[in-house]
Order: sequence, then structure tokens, then C-alpha cells
Amino acid sequence: MNCMVVESGKSRILVDCGLMFPNAEQALGVEVITPDFSYLQKAGRLDAVLLTHGHEDHVGALPYLLREFPQTPVYGTRFTLAVVKEKLAEHGIGASFNEVVPHRRAEVGEHLEFEPLQVPHSIPDAVGYALSTDAGLVVHTGDFKIDWSPVDGKLLDVRRFAELGEQGVACLLSDSTNAEREGTTPSEREVGESLVRICAGVRGRIVMAMFASNVHRVQSALRAAVAQNRKVVTLGRSMETNVRLALDLGYLQFPPDLFVDPEAAAHFPPRDLLILCTGAQGEPRSALARLALGEHPTVQLEPGDLVILSSSVIPGNERALANLIDHLVRRGCQVLSATSSAQLLHTSGHACQGEQRMMIDLIRPRTFVPIHGEYRMLAAHARLAEQAGARPLVAEDGDAVELRANEAASLRTQAVSVGRRYLDARGALADVGEVALRDRQLLAETGMLVCLCVLDHKSGEVVRGPELLGKGVAGLDESRLSRARQLSLEALAELSPAQRTDHGLVEEALRRGVRSAWSKSLEKRPMVMPVVIEM
Ligand SMILES: [Zn+2]
Ligand SMILES: [Zn+2]
Repeated sequence: MNCMVVESGKSRILVDCGLMFPNAEQALGVEVITPDFSYLQKAGRLDAVLLTHGHEDHVGALPYLLREFPQTPVYGTRFTLAVVKEKLAEHGIGASFNEVVPHRRAEVGEHLEFEPLQVPHSIPDAVGYALSTDAGLVVHTGDFKIDWSPVDGKLLDVRRFAELGEQGVACLLSDSTNAEREGTTPSEREVGESLVRICAGVRGRIVMAMFASNVHRVQSALRAAVAQNRKVVTLGRSMETNVRLALDLGYLQFPPDLFVDPEAAAHFPPRDLLILCTGAQGEPRSALARLALGEHPTVQLEPGDLVILSSSVIPGNERALANLIDHLVRRGCQVLSATSSAQLLHTSGHACQGEQRMMIDLIRPRTFVPIHGEYRMLAAHARLAEQAGARPLVAEDGDAVELRANEAASLRTQAVSVGRRYLDARGALADVGEVALRDRQLLAETGMLVCLCVLDHKSGEVVRGPELLGKGVAGLDESRLSRARQLSLEALAELSPAQRTDHGLVEEALRRGVRSAWSKSLEKRPMVMPVVIEM
């Protein structure tokens, strides 16, 4: 997740405020992971949040930040702010929004000037920022690629990046996602042309699954539909929302009456329909998952229908996606995915080495800091910068890059306390916490036994119990239960009368006794929760 603090003079701003989603198989009930903002709380002042674009890993944690810093002004481009407003409305939070436009300079905090820089990415209106700090110009690329024929015609602002390079840039922070890939990223337009070709001659319904925020891809899908005289149905909440936002802003071009409601879809012959939906990652509650299981109320897929998964698979989602494809094939659908098809069904929104090198050459920074990637990607990007003659500093979460005017930059490792907050509901305020997560992990692996015991408060003698109540424990039959009861009584008997008035010691003895009914070396011992009542 992306969340970078920039401090200059008395000003302190945040560039992006993203969240992460846990891996579905290890989620333990956690739905979102947000940054821990305690550094900002301690620092006590936040002048502004600058957003580069509307992807979740850049804006998703904004509702949580604004709960702690409600007055902070939020800066972003049109589409980014539209996405953010929608998100904040869901949380019932307002904010002071400020629309930014490439080339138009603005000021935040105590005279900290910034300028948005137009960059192509897989969502409309993505920008980088040039920040005029006390230590010189800092350029942050945001997520970018260099697409020479973008669907919306908005090119990388090469001239402006080159001008900034001429002025002298103290530090360039650049997107490292594809730093391990040679060459350049194919244009979004090529994907569009490929989709039009694939759709030609299909007799059944066409279903295209993609990231809903990739409005350029949605535009390409609409072109493919128009070319085949098909009507378009959007399915899934995020697809409907993003298409609505893009329509409101005039970011999609299409003839009138192209869209039809899902309720009306059943009245059209299969060859007249193109269905746009989310779920290309195998998400279990997505529209595509419901189509695959035949559970959608108005659209039923049949043999002869074509499903195009127009996205790459995020690592960790492979199994879920494979299951989804199985279900679709069972229904008789043909499925094309980026891994199985020779056609170009997807392209990345991030620069490969060729484009990253060009960015470094345009800016020629004094210091280069690779951002947005796992460590090996940052390291690969740093190597690339070194080859280009720049001086790289690889910073990880919590590290601080210190820039001084006319002096070499330095890295302070773990200068700032950073952490993650694990939230088990999107609207949650409380961190589940590492301890609770460990307990959940343990409960999932072993189950739990409650051991209830009533003791005489004077003598410490057992009045009732121990009684055992198990959930999710394997091998919990009557003989095991009575053995566990017996062993816990024996453990209690080892305590002296004085020790038996100590709650902590009694609980520990009960826990030890019950657990010893399971062989340590051969079985998984359940979590035991002793409950001691004195009478
Ligand atoms: Zn992005
Ligand atoms: Zn990103």
C-alpha cells in the first residue's frame, strides 16, 4: 500500500493513502489492511493529502485517515476525486476536496508548491507530482507507463518531465512494479484492437471481465460491442459504479441506447449481448462468479457463450480463478484468459525497464528512490538507475530519505514507526491486532476447549466440574473428555491449598491438565480457555 509522508520546512503532506487486501486463503476474517497513522498522530500536523490516482492501493485508506485527521484537504484529479467521493460517502465521511489539473501549480501547508504531471496508467486522470521542497525539486511519478497511443489520448507529459530535468531534480521517486521486465509495456490500444478481433464472429453472448476502474479497457469493450451490433449490460456493483462515474464525467464515448438493464438482458438473443463485469480474479462474490454458478437472477450463460478474462492474475488468486474457469467450462462456455490465449487480452498499467529508463533519463535526478514494488523490484529498479548514472537509495517501509540542498541525500533506516492495521470489516474502526490474529490462526488450526471449574473460595476444593465444552476440536469423544477431566483434576491436586486461591495458578493447572490429554508429539493440542468460578 502506498502512503508517503513528505516534510519540508514546517509543511507535512501525504502522497497517497492506500490499503491492501489480505490473501483470501489466509484472511482470518480480515477484510482490509490499512497503514498505521501513529507517526502522523505524534507529529501532530498534516497539511494535505495529494492523490496520484484512484486505485485502492493509493486511496483506499483515506476514510480511515480522515477519521483521525478530519480537516485535512484532499487533492486529486477529476476522476480520482470522483472515486474518492463515492468511497467516502459509503463511510458517511465528508472532506474538503480540491481538484488539481496538470500544469497548474498549487500551494499547500507553509508555501509547499506542487504541480501535477500527466501520466498514462490503467485508470483515467493519473498524475505524478513535482514538489518544490526546501531541498530542491522532488518528482514522484505515481503509477505510470509510457503509452504512445493511449485510448483517451492523454500521453505522458514528456515535455514537462524533460523541463523539470533541465531545472535540476533533487530526487526522483519512480514506479518499480515491472522493474524485472525488459522492454516496454504494450499499449492499451493494442488490447482494444485485439478484443474487437476476438469478438468478431462469436455467435453466443460475450462476457468480458476486467478491473472496473480500467475505464480505457471498458471503452475498448464498448467499441467491440458497437462493431458487432451488440447491446452492453454491466453487472456487479463496482462495474456499475465506475461506468456511471465515467459516464458522468464524459470519459466514455458510445452511441445512444448502447446500454441495457440486466433485467432486460433476457429479452435479447445471445448474439446481441456483451456483458461487462468484474470477477476476473476469481472473487467469490463477484458477478462473474454468480454467472459461472448459474446463480445470476437475469443472465444465464449457455454453451456457445464466450468469456474473456481481460486481466492478469494477482498472485494468490490462481486457485480461485481456476475453480471459476472450471465452472464456466462446465456450463459449456469457451474461456479466454491472458495465460491461455495467444491474443493480447490484457496489458499492464505499469512501465517496464525501457520506460523506467526513459523516465530516469528525462529527469536525471541527483538521487533516485525506487517505489511501489516488492524488495526485488526496488532492487532491480535501483540497478537500472545506476546504469543510467543516477545514485539510487533503496528505502523500505519506515525508512526516511533525507534531502539537503546541494548535498548528497542520505537514508535513515527505520526512522519512523510504521505498521499495519488489520480491520475485519470495511467500516471497522478497531484494529484486530496481531495477538487476536494469532489466536484466530490457532483456533482455525486446533479448535478450542472451554474448561469450567467451580472452587470453594476458602478451601480451594473443587465444588463442581471441571466441565469441558469443545468447538472444532478433533478426536473429542467421551473417553478423551473424561481423560481430560481426570488429568485436569490431577493437575489441580498438585497445587497446595494456598496456591489454589491464586486464580492464575489454577487456570494454568487446568490448561496444562486438559492439554495433556492430547499427545504433544502426535496430535494437535487444542487451545484451552479455563473459566474458574469461586463460591
Ligand atoms: Zn495504480
Ligand atoms: Zn499502485
